[in-house]
Amino acid sequence: MSPYPNMLAPLDLGHTTLKNRVLMGSMHTGLEERGDWTRVAEYYGERARGGVGLIVTGGMAPNAEGGVFPGAAGLYTPQDIANHRVVTDRVHAEGGKIAMQILHAGRYAYGPDCVAPSALKSPISPFKPRALDEDGIEKQIADSATAAARAQEAGYDGVEVMGSEGYFLNQFLCAATNHRTDRWGGDYANRMRLPVEVVRRVRETVGPDFILIYRISLIDLVPGGQSFDEVLRLAHAIEAAGASILNTGIGWHEARVPTIATSVPRGGWAWVTRKLMGQVGIPVITSNRINTPDLAEELLAEGAADMVSLARPFLADPEFVAKAAAGRTKEIAPCIACNQACLDHTFQGKISSCLVNPRAGHETDLNYTPTNTPKRIAVVGAGPAGLMAALVADQRGHDVTLYEADARIGGQLNMARVIPGKEEFHGLVDWFATMIASSGIALHLSTRAAPEALAAFDEVIIATGVTPRDPAIDGQTAPHVLRYTQVLRDKAPVGARVVVVGAGGIGFDVAEYLAHQGPSATLDLPLWQREWGVTDPATAPGGLAPDGPDPTPPARQITLVQRKPGKPGKGLGKTTGWIHRASLAAKGVTMLGGMAYKRITAEGLVVERDGAEQLLPADTIVLCTGQDPLRDLANALPHAHVIGGADVAAELDAKRAIDQGARLAAAL
Ligand code: NAP
Ligand code: SF4
Repeated sequence: MSPYPNMLAPLDLGHTTLKNRVLMGSMHTGLEERGDWTRVAEYYGERARGGVGLIVTGGMAPNAEGGVFPGAAGLYTPQDIANHRVVTDRVHAEGGKIAMQILHAGRYAYGPDCVAPSALKSPISPFKPRALDEDGIEKQIADSATAAARAQEAGYDGVEVMGSEGYFLNQFLCAATNHRTDRWGGDYANRMRLPVEVVRRVRETVGPDFILIYRISLIDLVPGGQSFDEVLRLAHAIEAAGASILNTGIGWHEARVPTIATSVPRGGWAWVTRKLMGQVGIPVITSNRINTPDLAEELLAEGAADMVSLARPFLADPEFVAKAAAGRTKEIAPCIACNQACLDHTFQGKISSCLVNPRAGHETDLNYTPTNTPKRIAVVGAGPAGLMAALVADQRGHDVTLYEADARIGGQLNMARVIPGKEEFHGLVDWFATMIASSGIALHLSTRAAPEALAAFDEVIIATGVTPRDPAIDGQTAPHVLRYTQVLRDKAPVGARVVVVGAGGIGFDVAEYLAHQGPSATLDLPLWQREWGVTDPATAPGGLAPDGPDPTPPARQITLVQRKPGKPGKGLGKTTGWIHRASLAAKGVTMLGGMAYKRITAEGLVVERDGAEQLLPADTIVLCTGQDPLRDLANALPHAHVIGGADVAAELDAKRAIDQGARLAAAL
């Protein structure tokens, strides 16, 4: 019997049946705006082929004012219908089902024409919205119903009405963003009128045999958010208005509580969905930080939901369901919830892809086709770049030998995975190990490949990585000065007062590692909730603890410094940087920019700031001042291919390393 009987069980919706309980949740791709609909179709088609029960597209605006940014993808014109038809045909040809998400951004729309219940600017947007009048509200309802009709005409199996995450409909629900005094504001019956009316009109327009999902905000995580009684009232009204499924939304985009980042415990919001189970007669979907079939099965088996929604894991591996069903769970490329190539790309106007799977969003231009001319290929270095290059080359039919000087694979990933909150990196290294073991790759650990030994290969790929940069600070050879590698890899003892020099990704990681004590909150949901001030929305509206966050006291007194002026952390990930900064601030870490490093003494680090010298007292100083490429082998072999940190160390991350490794091996 399958280990996933609940996850793989069909879901009968009356007029149609979903083949299993897995929904691919909505993610913006960035492809639609480029107008290449074949590419959009391949992206979703590949995921349909991978066996997911139902796909929900990225958000489509019902009209120009509701788009997340000017020109955002939508469904307004006959040409739009023809474009979307390319996608639905492709998904259906693969045996899948697909629903289109109708997303009206309200005051989150990043443009001057945005509209909202009241003219109240969001803290995450520079644009003040225009408050809608009665006709304006009717237009939004009518446009949503029209978008649903067009989706039906374009061949979709249903629509999802986006009612959560602080978007337009959610903005009507909360008194903090809805100051109206007409029938669309005031008491909750009035505030919920719009979402209910949208669902009613959409159902009226599309008829009974069409999936209608409503994404309901179960916990707003903002001051003035809904109470759970209000949420239940809304759920009942939405069901009565004709929704076929309720999907879970967690937190507004402006919430100061992480909801999907890697440091959020796995399945850490399923308890909120569970509160809705048994309260409505339609299926309920749970969401957020579900990234393995085992967790999906566990949540469904314990009755937390009728269905699970996974979004980013389908970027990491389109075959998530098919591999689980075939007993190949360990081969599922794991989503590590880093946001680096998906959401961070979205916010930079780039195509969404995946750190673990560079093919995501590139299904038509990056393919690992079998080679007609198998070669003997040596890959030197089993960090992310070398591992990916070796795997892709092997998959294409080359004869690959992989050399690693260390006794284990993983390279820099092995340092990331010891950081509290970055436990997902274990899964990534384990996945690489599984894939290498099941491949034809000859792996030689604890082996330094000499140039002579590499002469026999047709191609040599050098992925030897990086070495910590020498910042040349006077006094840095003193015994109380450590490199980050000594702290994270060699576990060197560290004193009670620490100065971390360099505030890039690694400086932040080291500060987090040294400030931390006790269990990792990522592995301890009640502790995590305490640290971020999350509580049951049945006891506190919006689910925010009345006394706020209650962080665990830090293990040490830490100062994190950089030379650049301004607050450290500006270069961190767009969607996750604020979490790292907030986490360190909660642990009392002092973060300082604009430092000139003068010298290190027995007492600490002497800096010059604003023309004056100052001692930053420290028992231990940890240098996190970036990296330089390790190029000895590359210099000895000028015809070799050089990838990853050995190629360019500046702004190196696993995303670039894996992408470069995959693209090189796809072309050899
Ligand atoms: P980094 O991000 O390039 O940061 C290096 C730090 O050292 C900067 O704060 C820089 O700031 C300082 N620095 C550079 N040269 C210096 C010098 N000669 N003397 C003194 N200070 C100097 O590199 P990293 O922190 O080593 O991270 C390496 C890569 O790992 C990152 O690029 C990152 O992508 C990846 N990583 C990512 C994350 C993540 O959260 N996404 C986490 C960990 C690691 P100043 O020049 O202002 O002093
Ligand atoms: Fe997951 Fe990171 Fe890939 Fe996004 S980029 S899908 S968060 S692994």
